[in-house]
Amino acid sequence: MKVLTATLKNLAPLHIGTGKKTGNFSKTLEYIPGRTIRGMVGYYLYNNNKSLFNALRINEDEDMSQTGVFFKNALPINKGKSTRACPVSFKWCKKCGHMIEPDKKECTNTVEDRPCLHEGKKYGGFITADSFETGELESVSVNTQISTKCPITRDGNTSPGPYDDIAPYNIESIVEGTEFEFQCIVEDEYVDGLKEALNESGIFGGLGGFRSRGYGTVTFSNFNATPASDMIQEKASNISQFKNAMMVTNSPMILRDGETSIIGFDENFEQYVSKSCDICATQGNFKIVSGDKGSQKLNEGIARGWSIKEGNKVSEIIPCIGMGSCAVVEGDPEVMATLEVYGIGEMINSGYGDVYFMEGHL
Ligand SMILES: [Zn+2]
Ligand SMILES: [Zn+2]
Repeated sequence: MKVLTATLKNLAPLHIGTGKKTGNFSKTLEYIPGRTIRGMVGYYLYNNNKSLFNALRINEDEDMSQTGVFFKNALPINKGKSTRACPVSFKWCKKCGHMIEPDKKECTNTVEDRPCLHEGKKYGGFITADSFETGELESVSVNTQISTKCPITRDGNTSPGPYDDIAPYNIESIVEGTEFEFQCIVEDEYVDGLKEALNESGIFGGLGGFRSRGYGTVTFSNFNATPASDMIQEKASNISQFKNAMMVTNSPMILRDGETSIIGFDENFEQYVSKSCDICATQGNFKIVSGDKGSQKLNEGIARGWSIKEGNKVSEIIPCIGMGSCAVVEGDPEVMATLEVYGIGEMINSGYGDVYFMEGHL
């Protein structure tokens, strides 16, 4: 398997529906879910390259050991730095933005030769990975705009009417020229075919909503393919330096026991960890550590299933573990590195279950 990365840039406004509507206002997500990219490429291949569609098994919805391609969520880039979902366990100073240690109540930073001493608060959103190194909160967000559209009526007029469904509506979109980190994992022999499909589908298909109104055109540049095994080794050698390891969810994570969603890291979670390790035959130990302060801090989230088999659309709405959830873990660095590369849980081919590991505790 190869890890294929690229810079994804939108050439037109980009609207990624959140699934929630507030009156006539339609909000956009500020990142591109892997499911949306998978839908774009899957639709394109189905219509233009059936043999690659079949070879990649891009339409596999359930058994993650049977697919040949895994799409991660594409997160916005701030000044070329990597982006992370901020851990829910972290607090940042309300005054100076400095990171507050888990066991401290107030800011220990020095501002103008005095201790800052302000309280901290949580930050729910994306930050640069640099924020962990510098101890300064550096948030990552995208520029958005709002456009008012009139629905096109059957006779081709665009006049607003007395009814809700033909009243003007407001669409929020990400402004053109925004850059995102694209990443997927793909079987070696299909790297070139997939690159071509990404380039073509980004221009002729596009991402998100209102594509018939010119939205959603995207380009890919700076492609880079690295063997997944090399990336796992590199990550493992970094993780092996950690004294205490903490896992943070970088995208929503779907864990289920039969039909029931599980919000928390338990023995079901550990079974999903084994499944991810089986994909690339990684062996080793891994577990959630139970400490006196508790071993996990959770956000709740909502996941939207995406089925290519069932009409290339949202298939179900699933309660799940939200981004930024944390757990104290221990185990072999190779296992953690494998999980960073492949993710954990259901639909890891659609961007769900992305995690990263860092030095830290709750
Ligand atoms: Zn402060
Ligand atoms: Zn500082």
